[in-house]
Amino acid sequence: MPNLLLAGPARPRVAASRPAGAPETVAEAVVVRGLRKSFGATAVLQGVDLTVPAGSIVALLGPSGCGKTTLLRSIAGLERPEAGDVRLGERTLSDANGFVVPERRRIGMVFQDWALFPHLSVGRNVGFGLSRSERRDGGVEAALALVELTGLAARMPATLSGGQQQRVALARALANRPAAILLDEPFSNLDATLRVSIRAEVQRLLRDLSVTAVFVTHDQEEAFVVGDEVAVLLDGSLVQQARPADLYDGPATRAVAAFVGDANFVPGSAGGTVADTPVGPVPLRAAASGPVDVLVRPEQLLVEPGDDGVVERVEYYGHDAVYLVRPDGGPVVRARILAAPVHRGGDRVAVRYAGAPTVGYPATGEAPVCVGAAAGA
Ligand code: ATP
Repeated sequence: MPNLLLAGPARPRVAASRPAGAPETVAEAVVVRGLRKSFGATAVLQGVDLTVPAGSIVALLGPSGCGKTTLLRSIAGLERPEAGDVRLGERTLSDANGFVVPERRRIGMVFQDWALFPHLSVGRNVGFGLSRSERRDGGVEAALALVELTGLAARMPATLSGGQQQRVALARALANRPAAILLDEPFSNLDATLRVSIRAEVQRLLRDLSVTAVFVTHDQEEAFVVGDEVAVLLDGSLVQQARPADLYDGPATRAVAAFVGDANFVPGSAGGTVADTPVGPVPLRAAASGPVDVLVRPEQLLVEPGDDGVVERVEYYGHDAVYLVRPDGGPVVRARILAAPVHRGGDRVAVRYAGAPTVGYPATGEAPVCVGAAAGA
């Protein structure tokens, strides 16, 4: 007996700021368990678990090719997983016993390129998935009102700005009252300045509407700014899901630590909740003993006049700068400073840890000591 409940939507949660007459969205939790998907011999999703609480935004973060789009498409029903369950609220959308087709899932999707039909007006784009009666009852105008594009129904997509086109794509995804919305790198088409303002706008909109949203990005800053929680997908497995600050301060693995922000892995010797390292004693979040590699973020290091190490290089970014310092008896570390640099390459300095308790990983003795994107970039 298929375990598929195709009954109507559950109790709607309507946001206070919804424009009059706008379509009601129904916030439902998205729950994925043990999802597996391969293409030929390539196992792309290797047992993914993901929970998106109703009405919250989860940013799915991972490097290119790790399976983000495949996961999103599997939730939308555009891919058929080989194993695992996808649920939306009380409904099972896919499991070993059955599969709900995409148009019955009540899930809206915004694609990377927005996929607007260039030969159709804004109104016809937004009304594409609506029934005739929904269109007659003002479904298009209501969806446009949601994204603050009232009055633009007759325009052609090409006559709109990038930000407006983005909102048309969002209106189309919201028009038939989805229980959740999936956004696949929705800002990647926008230039850097527009991207910052549009993503803030989209985030506000999703929040105001209380929509459950999964948002794919490979940009850590974007994931942190937009997501209530960030789920890190590496090599087809969801390694950690947490609020941005918890993820940054307490990455579950070295790989997560290196992917979210700059990371120094400083070798040390743990004895309880402190590790002795070349950058001084470092407090640990959990007791450990023996050799560890301690996660030290560049902004947690203090560089002062002294005689404990040498500045190898200074990277100046304008809004901040990074000293590459080699403490005596230790490997090079990156230390970020917000003031103008006062030391130069070759200067003797003191470098010490000045942050909160951090994470110690089992020492590998082989991992890069200093990884991450260019600081401040
Ligand atoms: P990006 O950030 O670059 O968009 P992603 O994390 O979204 O990447 P996916 O698009 O899910 O990654 O792709 C994961 C892997 O699956 C890649 O190696 C990709 O080549 C492969 N893949 C995706 N779709 C197909 C397909 N239809 N047929 C064969 N291989 C596919």
